[in-house]
Amino acid sequence: MRPVIRGVFERGPSRARPCRAREGCCGHPAWGGAVAGGGAPGSAGGVRAEAVGGQDGADGVAGVDVRGVGSDVQGGAVGQIAEEVLLGVVECGQDRLLGAGDAPGGAGQDRAAVLGGHDPPGAAVAGGRDAFDQAGRFQGVQHVGHHGAVDAQVRGECGLGGQVALGDGGEHVVAAAAFGQVGQDEFGGLVPAAEQHGQGPAEIARGGAGLRAVVLGTGFGHSAIVPEYPDQEIGCQAYYLLSNAVVGGAPRRSAEGNPVMPDYGHDLLFGTFITPDAGDPAGAVARAQATEQAGLDFATFQDHPYQPRLLDTWTLLSWVAASTERLRVAPNVLNLPLRPPSVTARAAAGLDLLSGGRLELALGSGAFWDGIAAMGGGRLTPGQAVDALDQAIDVIRALWDEGARGGARAGGGHHRVAGAKRGPAPAHDIGIWLGAYKPRMQRLTGRKADGWLPSLGYADLAALAEGNRVIDAAAAEAGRAPGEVRRLLNLTGAEVGPASRGFLQGPPGQWVDELLPLVVEHGFSAFFLATDDPEQIRRYGEEVAPALREAAARERTAPPTAGARSASARAARRDGIDYGAVPASLAPGAVEPGDREYGRVRHTYMRSGSPGLVLRPADADQAAEALRYAREQQAPLAVRSGGHGISGRSTGDGGVVVDLSRLNRVELLDRAGGLVRIGTGARWSDVAAALAPHGLAISSGDHGGVGVGGLATTGGIGWMARRHGLTIDHLAAAELVLADGTRVRADAGTDPDLLWAVRGAGANVGLVTAVELYAQQVGEVVFADFALDAADTSGLLQAWGAAVEEAPRELTSFLRLIPGRRGSGPLAGVQAVYAGDDVEAARKAIAPLMALGPLLDQQAVLAPYRALMPAGGGPHRGAAEPVMRSALLDHLTAEAAEGIAAVAGSGQSLGVHIRAVGGAVNDVAPDATAYPHRHQNFSLAAIGAGPRVPAMERAWEALLPLTDGMYLSFETGTGPEVLRRAFPEPALSRLRELKRRYDPDQVFATNFPIPPADR
Ligand SMILES: Cc1cc2nc3c(=O)[nH]c(=O)nc-3n(C[C@H](O)[C@H](O)[C@H](O)COP(=O)(O)OP(=O)(O)OC[C@H]3O[C@@H](n4cnc5c(N)ncnc54)[C@H](O)[C@@H]3O)c2cc1C
Repeated sequence: MRPVIRGVFERGPSRARPCRAREGCCGHPAWGGAVAGGGAPGSAGGVRAEAVGGQDGADGVAGVDVRGVGSDVQGGAVGQIAEEVLLGVVECGQDRLLGAGDAPGGAGQDRAAVLGGHDPPGAAVAGGRDAFDQAGRFQGVQHVGHHGAVDAQVRGECGLGGQVALGDGGEHVVAAAAFGQVGQDEFGGLVPAAEQHGQGPAEIARGGAGLRAVVLGTGFGHSAIVPEYPDQEIGCQAYYLLSNAVVGGAPRRSAEGNPVMPDYGHDLLFGTFITPDAGDPAGAVARAQATEQAGLDFATFQDHPYQPRLLDTWTLLSWVAASTERLRVAPNVLNLPLRPPSVTARAAAGLDLLSGGRLELALGSGAFWDGIAAMGGGRLTPGQAVDALDQAIDVIRALWDEGARGGARAGGGHHRVAGAKRGPAPAHDIGIWLGAYKPRMQRLTGRKADGWLPSLGYADLAALAEGNRVIDAAAAEAGRAPGEVRRLLNLTGAEVGPASRGFLQGPPGQWVDELLPLVVEHGFSAFFLATDDPEQIRRYGEEVAPALREAAARERTAPPTAGARSASARAARRDGIDYGAVPASLAPGAVEPGDREYGRVRHTYMRSGSPGLVLRPADADQAAEALRYAREQQAPLAVRSGGHGISGRSTGDGGVVVDLSRLNRVELLDRAGGLVRIGTGARWSDVAAALAPHGLAISSGDHGGVGVGGLATTGGIGWMARRHGLTIDHLAAAELVLADGTRVRADAGTDPDLLWAVRGAGANVGLVTAVELYAQQVGEVVFADFALDAADTSGLLQAWGAAVEEAPRELTSFLRLIPGRRGSGPLAGVQAVYAGDDVEAARKAIAPLMALGPLLDQQAVLAPYRALMPAGGGPHRGAAEPVMRSALLDHLTAEAAEGIAAVAGSGQSLGVHIRAVGGAVNDVAPDATAYPHRHQNFSLAAIGAGPRVPAMERAWEALLPLTDGMYLSFETGTGPEVLRRAFPEPALSRLRELKRRYDPDQVFATNFPIPPADR
């Protein structure tokens, strides 16, 4: 007899542990387990029992002494798994024994659910809670896989049952712990994978630091990868167990000391399930507000559109979202037969956008068909209703997928879209949860949904466990990881009270005891309490939720994750990025190439990209974590605020993007002084909108969608530049994460050098999370927009340049040369902003510009400044690698104007933009900021019409000697010469010194990287 993994199982004395599950071992959902052992080689297919049971299973696998198993399992990797699993068996199998299998020893004795091996060789194992009924009776085996070579077949239920099979398949020695149904393919595939690494199971299983792989067969179709063993895919649940019970050392135990099964690793959410009583509309809203005040996450409402005593759910959700600040909302569940999915998709996206990403969408296939029919809805059989829901999900997702090309085509006979325009994309990846009780709906949930939302009133613990099993199996079959489906639960008939009166009826401590197993053993991670009692809401939020969070945090040995990713999502991962090491706080917002949200975050305004990972920190601490993580990866780092970078590459290929768009708060710190603190993820449209009510504004650029981060760290040539200067000229302080991951604040008092660098070259010295700026008193301004014939391009440019220089400072004008096309001559699009509401003065200032040439079109309006900064967010679809050239000019001389005309007329330019600077911009000393260009009057930017524009480049080269310096935000070229033009001495030397001080390793290297000064 040869113990297959003796090293593990020989340690320690015998030690039997009692089962202490509250509801009886087998009936308790936490439990389950089985072991495959077996007799001598050949008798039961060569599966070795002694390694498990410490005894020769003389009569085949059924002879395993399970107590022996538990006792002998003391510390090794598989041992711990085995112990967890087997302890359940020890007690659970006691009273009923099962016999199954047709091979020697198949009959059960008084111990465990051990099924005899089949012939041809093999051992089959049944286990899992659902192998037993509440009374501990064996329920039978539905699947017994078989793999001749491996000789071990395991059957169990994902997350509920667990099995350990140890076997010697002749040449292959196998150590397997399995959760779920192990089919021959999975099982067969795993063994060679282990062997490729030159490790037999003894080494593999010995665990501790040496743990490389326990061969885990799972029912999830290879849905996770052990980081230390990248070639080997295993099921996420099993991996979870591995990481918790094995890698982490001690097996996890429930509050009672019972071994627990893995949960799905989601963060915990709590909410209410409020009656949308039409008789008390304000009451429903007040309860939602009480939900928010109690610190809960969600308010949810049932949806019965045929019921006049209830408020319309969608209307109520919108009202509640508008009446709260942080609270998330969801229908619970939306009545699909009366809610056409195409309209629901748009309504949901709209509400999500309006509420700042606070909506989730729970759908139901329909019930109460008389009511539905009375409202004009079609009556569906249960099967049809599930089909309809299936199609609805496709329709909704297709419409939300704004990044996809072409019209949305999805659905089928019940619901469909046929080329409908896509969008709007919701503000976040809205989860679709299904209220599902029957297997068919649960299978749909596993295949397609993001969450499962049953109610306790309709499903007892056994039904929940069975539902989980069905969902997990369906998810596996669809190539998904079970963790992709969050498990949520409505708590009905529950009440926080002084004394215990039943399940979830008692003091908070009792609630925690009773909900905790649902979290750590069943994977439920969201609980919505059905109540309309404000006191219950308060107690649930203040006494139950925090206590359960705390208890769960203690029980869970691994931090919550965003859920597992499917095999196909993992296959899309890029080299050089340690996805398993993404900090837990960032995991929920992290987007990988295989994720649904990827299409919305991969590109920027101008560039297409394929980053390997996009991290979206929610605050400055998380931004620091993101940076610390990113700098450890073997992949380039890109920093993104608004994604409008031209010079800076805020996307890339295979790298890590730290996207700061969630750091977008605009706070007025001091009304009188106009001091504003702005998260760099905000866009200038947000800033203008937030400041307008206070009669304030900051001159930024000409586009509301541009991000604060990129512009406020580089320059900011805006609509009021001549009147108010550059954006950076008003920058008083910046909060940064430095290259080493530390957070600092730079202002004139604390770190004037760093502040100086941020004002022009910020991207080189840190990741700026917030800036403080002084806003100016700005109310309404005059905005003129007109087109001039530019047939005499050079003449027009000279005249426009002279007029601008002569104009009062209130006037700032931008001109865009548009090359002639298809027989029509070139045009000049001119905009002019008069920074004040004196219409007469504005007319006087603007009139000379309009008189410069044949006027083709014109309009001028008095408008609030914020009207000039319309919102320009939304998912970016940049599809190219643009070519742009940038330069600064003192005057539009005849020679310069000829040169510009040549660039515009090169046939390879989409246009040349000329922005007036001068005025207040030049009031600032050249050495006051890292933007030293303080005497020029014009900024030029030429846009190439393609990736290769040699003719435009030649014309540009000819123009260059006439220019003086460059504003780097409009340049896509790189190299030392470009740097010298952007930062003429002594600025460049000072920046190189500061680069050495703040970023010697050149972590920030994607936007005009400045080489650190030599030591
Ligand atoms: C349509 C359009 C119009 C424009 N109009 C003007 C204009 O009128 N005036 C003007 O001055 N500019 C203008 N720009 C240029 C614009 O200011 C810059 O491209 C700016 O960098 C964009 O900022 P962002 O945050 O949106 O860019 P992102 O693409 O998010 O970032 C660009 C680069 O800036 C750096 N960066 C971004 N955020 C941070 C941060 N928080 N900390 C450190 N570094 C950071 C990174 O290196 C990044 O690669 C325009 C650009 C576009 C596309």
